[in-house]
Amino acid sequence: MSKRDFYEVLGVSRDASERDIKKAYKRLAMKYHPDKNPGDDTAADKFKEVKLAYEVLTDDQKRAAYDQYGHAAFEQGGMGGGGGFGGGADFSDIFGDVFGDIFGGGRRGGQARAQRGADLRYNMELTLEDAVRGVTKEIEVPTYVSCDSCSGSGAKPGSSPQTCGTCHGQGQVQMRQGFFAVQQTCPTCHGRGKIIKDPCDKCHGQGRVQKTKTLSVKIPAGVDTGDRIRLTGEGEAGEYGAPAGDLYVQVHVRDHHIFTRDGNNLYCEVPVSFTMAALGGEVEVPTLDGRVSLKVPPETQTGRMFRMRGKGVQSVRGGGLVI
Ligand SMILES: [Zn+2]
Ligand SMILES: [Zn+2]
Repeated sequence: MSKRDFYEVLGVSRDASERDIKKAYKRLAMKYHPDKNPGDDTAADKFKEVKLAYEVLTDDQKRAAYDQYGHAAFEQGGMGGGGGFGGGADFSDIFGDVFGDIFGGGRRGGQARAQRGADLRYNMELTLEDAVRGVTKEIEVPTYVSCDSCSGSGAKPGSSPQTCGTCHGQGQVQMRQGFFAVQQTCPTCHGRGKIIKDPCDKCHGQGRVQKTKTLSVKIPAGVDTGDRIRLTGEGEAGEYGAPAGDLYVQVHVRDHHIFTRDGNNLYCEVPVSFTMAALGGEVEVPTLDGRVSLKVPPETQTGRMFRMRGKGVQSVRGGGLVI
């Protein structure tokens, strides 16, 4: 993949708004789209380049990383878990949002798919002590869960959803429009591929119901503000039995009355009498594990920093949970 500047690729300025980026993308994607340039590899490469630039610049997090580090931000999985991308040749995935008006519900083709459940975010405030030592917390999450009456199918118990006659279960119908053979979301089943004649009473045919669920979340020792813990499959249940989304617990560590934290180091101020500063002595210093005595050498100036090894925060990385 080429290393042209993403802003240059799209022909927009560095402070371009998302709208401008979308506009530029749409224009270029139309120009280089493989359907319009059959057999033209240069156009296909350009298309991929444009798509990649668009993906990065319309994602706030990726755009910020790109602005700061350039292409290096995305090399060797630089974005960390889940953030990377490989410039894949799958043209279909982003057409859903930009070309929604032209292509209907996206060009996914193949089997109709019910929508996966939404991801949820839970903001959790922790004391510094809990963040450093780890803690298990019960949280209540208002969400959708799979309907137990119909097992998520949406059809009345004893009946089952039927294959849609209009699209034969594909969820999409073919239309021709100018250059493109266009797939459109089936108007009869709205893309589901199935019709429910006899909806379940409990979920009114949705296959899921609203419920507040209680979860026990294990917070690993060492987390800090900005860390997220992913609970796979604990987000909202999908419609019609589709897979559930994930739940992200976003950690926020409250300020502490004694310590300030910077990464895995803790800082605190300890007042020392004038005599001790001048002559030296021993002073008691608070740590998260109790008081520890510290030698103060003679002629210690105010503002001097002493390091006590191993009394800070155990690093959380490697726990595998935190992203
Ligand atoms: Zn139901
Ligand atoms: Zn249909």
